[in-house]
Amino acid sequence: MVILGAGPAGLGAACQLTRAGMARVTVLEQRDIVGGNAGSFDIDGVRVDYGSHRLHPACDPAILRDLQELLGDDLLLRPRHGRIRLRGRWIHFPLKPVDLLLHLPKSFGFGVAADLARKFVPRRGQSPETFASVLEHSLGRTICRDFYFPYARKLWGLSPEQLSVTQARRRVSASSLSKMLRKIATAIPGLKPPGAGRFFYPKLGFGQISQRLREEAEAGGAEFLFGARLTAVEREGNRVTAVCYERHGREERIAAPLVWSTVPITVLVNSLRPEAPAEVRSAAGQVDFRGMILIYLVLEQKQFTEYDAHYFPEEAIPISRLSEPKNYSATSNPADCTVLCAELPADPGSREWAMSDDELGKAMCSWLAQAGLPVRAPVRRALTRRLRQAYPMYRAGYETHFATMDAWVGQIEGLLTFGRQGLFAHDNTHHALYMAYAAVKCLRSDGTLDLGRWKEFRQVFETHIVED
Ligand SMILES: Cc1cc2nc3c(=O)[nH]c(=O)nc-3n(C[C@H](O)[C@H](O)[C@H](O)COP(=O)(O)OP(=O)(O)OC[C@H]3O[C@@H](n4cnc5c(N)ncnc54)[C@H](O)[C@@H]3O)c2cc1C
Repeated sequence: MVILGAGPAGLGAACQLTRAGMARVTVLEQRDIVGGNAGSFDIDGVRVDYGSHRLHPACDPAILRDLQELLGDDLLLRPRHGRIRLRGRWIHFPLKPVDLLLHLPKSFGFGVAADLARKFVPRRGQSPETFASVLEHSLGRTICRDFYFPYARKLWGLSPEQLSVTQARRRVSASSLSKMLRKIATAIPGLKPPGAGRFFYPKLGFGQISQRLREEAEAGGAEFLFGARLTAVEREGNRVTAVCYERHGREERIAAPLVWSTVPITVLVNSLRPEAPAEVRSAAGQVDFRGMILIYLVLEQKQFTEYDAHYFPEEAIPISRLSEPKNYSATSNPADCTVLCAELPADPGSREWAMSDDELGKAMCSWLAQAGLPVRAPVRRALTRRLRQAYPMYRAGYETHFATMDAWVGQIEGLLTFGRQGLFAHDNTHHALYMAYAAVKCLRSDGTLDLGRWKEFRQVFETHIVED
């Protein structure tokens, strides 16, 4: 079998398949390292991720046990300690009742209370149809206008009215006032469910999860080809036969009766030879991914703040989040510097995408000063990483285009698409792993897939809700 992509989804599948001795696995990965968007790398002795990454306790218990076994004591359980900027004030995130009472701007609190009261007045009119209408209906105007809508405009580069209802229903974890109140109540001792306000984090960066999965898969006999960019998936009729890729400037080909793809579904559709029907290629041209620039600033100080992450919903500050990687694992090493990572949503071709690392570093300092977080220590250097596929874009109507691609790919024997990019799912790592484990459970010993069972799992994937 050939697995396309060595992010958590591809690695989870490679690991489970080799453990069970179910297939000889070759993993193709365009980069030189594993982990995809959930990988890690070093900057001046500080281990950093591609933006803020945490393993959420909502992870399927069997998968969590597996990761705990793989990582041992290196998988730390840490308290969340972040802040959100709201109308110029800092509120603790996750939200805490006492902190809200002390720091929530009064006008905001009154606005939310009025929205809550309005919910008891029966509404007339049409049923909600977009991200904007669903959230405004369930969370009220105040939270939407001060928090979700500006954040959505910044994150997606679209107005909330242009976003699909799916974005609100499945991708906003506190999607109603009652859910939000329940989340706040979980901070109260006695009402606290296990895991609330906590997250798992590997000592050596989030990418250590992927690294351990790779080692486990390799121990089971999986082969990894790095720097290998997919160029074609060949088929004969509706049966997959081979994969072609470019590596070290040369085109290579591997015969493969089974291909499991975790690369973007659009890339997969466009790589098929003979090519996909015109309407399927056209569907691939009508969905896109949101890009992101990660700006890393190396500061000559031990710690910038005590917080792991700062969230910026307001539009005046172009970054959506700032994280300080050393605070995720509570390390004080190295003592002479810390790194800040700012997440700047942006697409290739934009003004920001064309800016140099230095320009982006300077811009980041000015945005932080504007937010009341001035950088006072000397800046050693600024560098960036650019993700072309950070988030699937849920434009209103995207569902039809995705369904066209999904249905066509689904009828090709031996070919399976899953993972965040493969199923166009704005999901967490534990969801991508869940998909991988599910795929392996559906593989029969004769190499065919139990499609009925896969269909049931696909319904479970629909219930996944992304956690921030
Ligand atoms: C800013 C940000 C913050 C996040 N925070 C969290 C968090 O706190 N917690 C959490 O659980 N999740 C978080 N996520 C989500 C997490 O990164 C994903 O869920 C996870 O990476 C999905 O794994 P995957 O294997 O499905 O996809 P990916 O990680 O995207 O892996 C796909 C792989 O395919 C490879 N590939 C693509 N095209 C080709 C090609 N043509 N040829 C060969 N290889 C190719 C890529 O290089 C990549 O390695 C965050 C994501 C972002 C962008």
